Amino acid sequence: MKVFVSKHKHRFQNITAITGAGISAESGVPTFRGTDGLWKNFRAEELATPEAFQKNPKLVWEWYLWRRNIIESKSPNEGHKALVELEQKHSNFFLITQNVDGLHLQAGSKRPLEIHGNIFINRCVSCDYQSKELKIDSKNLPPHCGRCNSLLRPGVLWFGESYEELKLNQSIFRMQNTDLLLILGTSGAVSMPVYLAQIAKEAGSLVIEINQEETPFTSSADLFLQGKSGKILPELVQEILSV
Ligand code: NAD
Ligand code: ZN
Repeated sequence: MKVFVSKHKHRFQNITAITGAGISAESGVPTFRGTDGLWKNFRAEELATPEAFQKNPKLVWEWYLWRRNIIESKSPNEGHKALVELEQKHSNFFLITQNVDGLHLQAGSKRPLEIHGNIFINRCVSCDYQSKELKIDSKNLPPHCGRCNSLLRPGVLWFGESYEELKLNQSIFRMQNTDLLLILGTSGAVSMPVYLAQIAKEAGSLVIEINQEETPFTSSADLFLQGKSGKILPELVQEILSV
């Protein structure tokens, strides 16, 4: 890592990180593909869809309240904190996260682009009402909008839904203009980060990946650091900031 960073340091003007569920794993937030991510034997792909919500909004809300409960009891880890330091000390750092847990914000990241939304947002399916503060009554599910009485849903992107255009364009623009892309704790099972990394690579960016296991990103990464992001990322950030 040390040798790689010092060899390429002149190329680190614009740094971008894409994070996935793996960066929150050491905080105790289950990833989707780990065994502890299962709820009542449903896979995430069976619940995090517009079809599942249409068919059984109560069930989908029960799952989200279970996940909110888990996340509420967790705190950011050393990996999240290292990215805050990078944002504070580097003049051009940008964070794109697929995570919906809000732990980057809680750690102190100022402007993470939450491309899959935030699990604590309640959003109306019909009007533009949304709120993070509203307390959902678990005994009266699914909740309804106080303004128009339509269903409320969690403010996250479900499988099969389109990305918000603004967020997508911002991410693509950033990929075209980054010198170093950090891919952290993401499996590549969701196709958007794979697409974004490809754009960055084609535009000439260096790519460093941190993951416990090899992924679809690994073969094209310039440096693959295998292990836990909570341990490796603080070391990497120190190396980057020291050059
Ligand atoms: P994923 O569950 O598909 O993959 C997690 C990846 O993290 C795996 O490749 C795994 O090897 C790696 N990993 C696990 N522990 C790690 C650690 N300590 N250090 C480094 N890497 C580690 O997650 P994904 O790629 O983010 O895709 C799943 C989708 O599910 C995303 O869209 C995301 O929005 C959503 N999701 C979010 C959360 C969250 O907000 N924390 C949790 C689960 C799923
Ligand atoms: Zn409404």
